[in-house]
Amino acid sequence: MKMNCDIENCKSRCCHNCAVLTEDEISNLILNVRKKYTIELEPRKFFKKVKGEFGTYYAIKMIKGQCIFLNKENRCRIYLCRPTLCELYPVIDIDMVDKRCPIANMLPPEMLSGLKRRYAQEIDGNIKAEQTFLFV
Ligand code: SF4
Ligand code: SF4
Repeated sequence: MKMNCDIENCKSRCCHNCAVLTEDEISNLILNVRKKYTIELEPRKFFKKVKGEFGTYYAIKMIKGQCIFLNKENRCRIYLCRPTLCELYPVIDIDMVDKRCPIANMLPPEMLSGLKRRYAQEIDGNIKAEQTFLFV
């Protein structure tokens, strides 16, 4: 099921947060982007380290308040390889949606519950447990 995003209206609100990933997810992302887009992501250019109470992770860098992968047309340059947290948006926790997304309240219940189930199953346990991240 596809979401009917009106990016002219929301300006890709979801891409104004930075997605936090494990080291393995970063390695897979780099490999997938190389394969699908023939783009070589230099880790230090695109990602920064982030510390939490339970470990060290990586976050996609932001430029002027938006994800480094968002293009001028407010579209993701690595859409087919985007992090799972991006795929699951507007679900932002096991049982929470981000109300700043204009379609968050309009999604069919079965779609929302599917996204929440995936959040519970696919997001790294330590990342789920973190309350705050410290960018380093
Ligand atoms: S998920 Fe929400 S915020 Fe993101 S592009 Fe779609 S409508 Fe906009
Ligand atoms: S990786 Fe793509 S989908 Fe995820 S926040 Fe960045 S631009 Fe948006």
